Amino acid sequence: MTRLQIVVLGGGTGGTMIANRLQRRLDADQAEIHVVDRDDRHVYQPGLLFVPFGLAELSQIVRPRGRQLHRDVVYHQEEITSVALERDEVLLGDGSTLPYDVLVVATGARLQPEETEGLTGEGWNERAFTFYTPHGAAELCAALERFDGGRLVVNLIDMPIKCPVAPLEFAFLADWYLRERGIRDRTDLVYATPLDGAFTKPVASKLLGSLLAEKDIELVTEFNAGQVDGAAGTLTSFDGRSLDFDLLATVPAHGGAAYLDRSPGLGDALGFVATNRRTLQSEARPNVFALGDATDLPTSKAGSVTHFEAEVLAHNVARYLAGGELTETYDGHANCFVETGFHKALLIDFNYDTEPLPGHYPTVFGLPLLRESRVNHFGKLGFQWLYWHALLPGRDIPGIRPAMSMRGKQVPSPS
Ligand SMILES: Cc1cc2nc3c(=O)[nH]c(=O)nc-3n(C[C@H](O)[C@H](O)[C@H](O)COP(=O)(O)OP(=O)(O)OC[C@H]3O[C@@H](n4cnc5c(N)ncnc54)[C@H](O)[C@@H]3O)c2cc1C
Repeated sequence: MTRLQIVVLGGGTGGTMIANRLQRRLDADQAEIHVVDRDDRHVYQPGLLFVPFGLAELSQIVRPRGRQLHRDVVYHQEEITSVALERDEVLLGDGSTLPYDVLVVATGARLQPEETEGLTGEGWNERAFTFYTPHGAAELCAALERFDGGRLVVNLIDMPIKCPVAPLEFAFLADWYLRERGIRDRTDLVYATPLDGAFTKPVASKLLGSLLAEKDIELVTEFNAGQVDGAAGTLTSFDGRSLDFDLLATVPAHGGAAYLDRSPGLGDALGFVATNRRTLQSEARPNVFALGDATDLPTSKAGSVTHFEAEVLAHNVARYLAGGELTETYDGHANCFVETGFHKALLIDFNYDTEPLPGHYPTVFGLPLLRESRVNHFGKLGFQWLYWHALLPGRDIPGIRPAMSMRGKQVPSPS
């Protein structure tokens, strides 16, 4: 009997989780699961935040990609060139093709620093950096060690970005780091964002905005950076405002993976996959699904989102193969630890419809929500262990469900 072919594009957070979950769920003689990725370096991306401050080494956050997959999953280390939807086929960099019965797109988001004029020109990786890549994070660590005061500008070019709180966390940690080194009083720390506040969600935005103010970090809003002059040290917005910097820590614009542009019908104008917000089936074809940063869903591009989606998606792929109705259970659930410096962190939990609320997660005895605490900081640090040992292998975590729960949350009474 020929086995059904399930091809997962991308062997990062989402691709690894969904492949391992499907391998556990489906009968081995019913389906063969393939994962394609271009390299063998699985980066625990939340760890990149800590590298510039010397709080983590790259060697601690990178592991071989193939080794994170169940032994029966077939791993192809190749570039994905395109997808031919009409033939149910993926074209790989070595010229070979992978036919599929079901395709799962998990190729994440691509950084596009070249989209901002001047960003990758003079001064790139000398005065202007991004901590969103392993190389950039390591270079920024060396630059921060050399930094002796001046203007440090933290900026995100445009939304969407992965982990929208990460640049804020960088600013908070920079404040801590500079104080530890005794050079905070001779450093102006600036946070420039295209948003109209510190963050996307109004409740969290207000809280995070107050924290920036408390730490004497200048907040510059509606700053749509259009040009960088690394030699002069200026960041200029499309409406003509300029910010001088001695050191720039930026998050470049994001788009979908480049092969999506060469795969007619699969990606939108930004290269993200139009995806049903409840079932995670693509709008392109019934046998094509997506998860993680690759989708166009109106929730955060975050590992937590990818994890909750993987649970729903494994269920729906199994239903699809069995000819059943898909369940409409993904609710946009996201949660993020927000490192705030001085060994503290906040936790926020929300979904498509519900703003972050105070209380505790996942139950009344859990971690405090919307409040700085040491226990959240240790939660953030401990998360890496959970990532490699429970989330990637596709194990369920007791008490953590994909749908957002109101247990432990303080719901405001209707006014
Ligand atoms: C600095 C930073 C901090 C973060 N902090 C947090 C956090 O605290 N909490 C949180 O929840 N999330 C955080 N995130 C976000 C989280 O890491 C991502 O949302 C998550 O990894 C998304 O998973 P994914 O599978 O969609 O994409 P990825 O894990 O990025 O995987 C995509 C894979 O596709 C592969 N690929 C792409 N194109 C091709 C091609 N053409 N051929 C072959 N392979 C290809 C890539 O090599 C990659 O391995 C952070 C991210 C960053 C950068």
